[in-house]
Amino acid sequence: MQQSPELAVVRYGEVGIKSDKVRGQMLDRLADNVRAVLDDRGIPGEVERTWSRLLIRAADGDDGFVADEAARAAADTFGVVSTRPAISTAPEIDALAEAAVALADDHPEGATFAVRANRAGTADAHPFTSQEVASEVGAAIGNATGADVDLDDPDRTYRLDVREDEAFVSAVEYDGPGGLPVGTQGKTVALFSGGLDSPVAAWELFKRGLEVVPVYLDLGDYGGPDHLARATETARTVARSAPHVDTRLRVVPAGDLVDDLAAETGPTRMLSLRRAMLRVAEAVAEDIGAHSIATGESIGQKSSQTGPNVRVTDAAASLPVHRPLLTRDKPEIVEQAREIGTFVDATVNVGCERVAPDYPETNATLAAVEAAEPDDLLDRAEALADERSVVSDD
Ligand code: ATP
Ligand code: MG
Repeated sequence: MQQSPELAVVRYGEVGIKSDKVRGQMLDRLADNVRAVLDDRGIPGEVERTWSRLLIRAADGDDGFVADEAARAAADTFGVVSTRPAISTAPEIDALAEAAVALADDHPEGATFAVRANRAGTADAHPFTSQEVASEVGAAIGNATGADVDLDDPDRTYRLDVREDEAFVSAVEYDGPGGLPVGTQGKTVALFSGGLDSPVAAWELFKRGLEVVPVYLDLGDYGGPDHLARATETARTVARSAPHVDTRLRVVPAGDLVDDLAAETGPTRMLSLRRAMLRVAEAVAEDIGAHSIATGESIGQKSSQTGPNVRVTDAAASLPVHRPLLTRDKPEIVEQAREIGTFVDATVNVGCERVAPDYPETNATLAAVEAAEPDDLLDRAEALADERSVVSDD
């Protein structure tokens, strides 16, 4: 009988090491999140929680289910370590070998392979060890394909996940982001410019299970429609992996405030702008029940991001400011932006005017920045949060 993958096996990592209670809650959330990603992409499938995996199978009477599509989509869900389209068999050597040989039907010419087996259940649940089943199934694949075994660096790995009552055989694995399920760590407000850094920072925080609410400051003559479009598009891209939370971009009209800063302040202008941004974010955070603020800054990347200057900007907010890219080099951030799909939109030329002064301060003191900025700057920033609008989904 010709067999092909009929379900997707979903593996998770850190969730699995939590205490029973926390783990149960997190797994419910992870299953819901996988359902939301499937739903959002119009991919059928029923998500089931079992032992140490989630399984996605065809729903009753559903013939549109494609295990490979479900596995690819689930691999985009935060908290998932990897997914595998798989054949389900009885936990017996003959059945496992038959399924593996069926999957080897498209084994690439000349490609080496390995079989990895993982067994769970009581000690006497199966009349074979993991080693024995791997080597017997490996022999069957070798006979069928003529391919050589390479246990150290195989071109293809056949995996046997053997449980007490059921086993899963797969030949393909998709890597997931890992981390924790979104919605298990509360909310953060991310200052989101849509450039290279802030979408990557938002992605990192989603990965740790936070609901990330992106806030964009419209800088008026210093920003513009292309700038907003860039932020909107990159926010949508990041949100594709978390379609069940409200990740719509919040837009705050800050043009007048920036004009005033440009007219009234010199070398410390960018620090005052950053302080205003943090204060806007804090006001939004308090309004929506977020516990923190996030930015895409990394140490030394720009004049406003030197150690002393970060100290000055953070004094404008009392909530913790998370900077997941703090220690990252720009080339690594660029590489990650390509991987998560935000690079192209983030690098469109937005042609905006520069807000930065010609000789920005790199070693500011709080007293000097406060003395140079308008007295009502932070109050104005706080009030601006109430003027935010939401970019709709379509
Ligand atoms: P990004 O850092 O997102 O690539 P950028 O490099 O154009 O944007 P920076 O000057 O590095 O801007 O900004 C540092 C951080 O400040 C950003 O990572 C982002 O968190 C925040 N930020 C900058 N501009 C805006 C804006 N217009 N609206 C909201 N947040 C912003
Ligand atoms: Mg930056």
